Amino acid sequence: MLELKHIYFAYDLTSPYVLNDINLTVRDGDYISVVGENGSGKSTLIKLILKLQTPTHGEIFNDFTRPAYVPQRFDALNSQFPITVGEVMNYYGKIMKIKDRSAIRHYLHLVGMEESVHALIGNLSGGQCQRVFVARALMAQPDLLILDEPSAGIDVRGQRELYALLRQLNESGMTVITVEHNLRAAKRNSDYMFHLASGKGHLCSPDEYVREYISANTEGEAYV
Ligand code: ADP
Repeated sequence: MLELKHIYFAYDLTSPYVLNDINLTVRDGDYISVVGENGSGKSTLIKLILKLQTPTHGEIFNDFTRPAYVPQRFDALNSQFPITVGEVMNYYGKIMKIKDRSAIRHYLHLVGMEESVHALIGNLSGGQCQRVFVARALMAQPDLLILDEPSAGIDVRGQRELYALLRQLNESGMTVITVEHNLRAAKRNSDYMFHLASGKGHLCSPDEYVREYISANTEGEAYV
């Protein structure tokens, strides 16, 4: 379980709080989508959860000992760089000190990418690439999987496959937190949505989110 209690965070002493009295509980096995406009503090919240930043005030209780982070796809690797799927997995396996060489195939198999072990990362579709990075994250045997906009720049089919994978991982017990711009996917997949605006956070069910935040604005017309 992860608990954020009365979290305030400012990047420096002279700037206003980016996060302002945030309270959030993530239970084992939850799937939570963090949503909100650009600049609302989603990445900052993730940095706090990953202990890359410490709260200015407030407390974080974190029972998850092996978090894994899947960055946004275009951050992850320059697609022009000539490296294969197997090499990406191999390098990470070495960093994680994984001795069992069959682990690479095992995790690629889990995400349906075993056949692509010799493919160049730059030749994969967006969705395939993202699944490889999920496989890489799984090598750390995480108890918490955090993904930053997992479906950004991915076509509809790729998105379907990716979210099916995330749901499958979640149903097998993995706790999942995503930063989401894809509201349709957030509504379909998550147990809860955590809406950030003006430094404040609100945890709600997907249905409640649609009622409170979507129906009332024009973005919702395309969404509902
Ligand atoms: P989001 O992920 O929702 O787009 P961020 O957490 O990246 O939002 O940013 C929240 C606010 O914090 C923004 O006003 C942003 O400019 C500011 N911010 C983000 N990172 C830094 C930083 N390293 N130093 C100072 N301000 C930052």
